[in-house]
Amino acid sequence: MNKALFLDRDGTLVVDTHYLHNPEDVQLIPGVAEALSIARDAGYLLFLFTNQSGIGRGYYLMEDVLACNREMIHQLGFKEDPFLETCIAPESPDEMEIYRKPSPKFLLEMLEKHDLDPDSSWMVGDKLCDVEAGVRAGIRSAYVLSGKDLDVKPQKFIEKNAIPVFEDLTGFVAQL
Ligand SMILES: [Mg+2]
Repeated sequence: MNKALFLDRDGTLVVDTHYLHNPEDVQLIPGVAEALSIARDAGYLLFLFTNQSGIGRGYYLMEDVLACNREMIHQLGFKEDPFLETCIAPESPDEMEIYRKPSPKFLLEMLEKHDLDPDSSWMVGDKLCDVEAGVRAGIRSAYVLSGKDLDVKPQKFIEKNAIPVFEDLTGFVAQL
């Protein structure tokens, strides 16, 4: 079986600038490029899993998100897209949830498609919806404190589900 890291984007890989949609505003969180390299070298398949309700709300387009993703990959220094698959969930919160986290749909599909071991695969993110999606999919979840909404850290959920908390992706990768 394979093992995987499912990574949230805003607040986990890049600085959460609130409805990021301009590639010029893409700014990597320090250490992320090296952390992803370490994870890949350790045999983890990488997946990108991002909620982009700004599309559903009409603030920006899917192509804006794709442009930001390309800029992020460029800044990461990878020659090719390091993510085996990417899920961009465009729903706004008042639309029916399909892929939008905390829906575990993307995770469940990837587990089956890529023969992933749930016990050694992780969902990593800076919001409740990230770790909740991981728990609902039956994989491991980790919470990082590199997002912008630290005041709304989901402490109850973290404690109830024994979710490990890390300063950032670098800290998470160090314990793999
Ligand atoms: Mg986030």
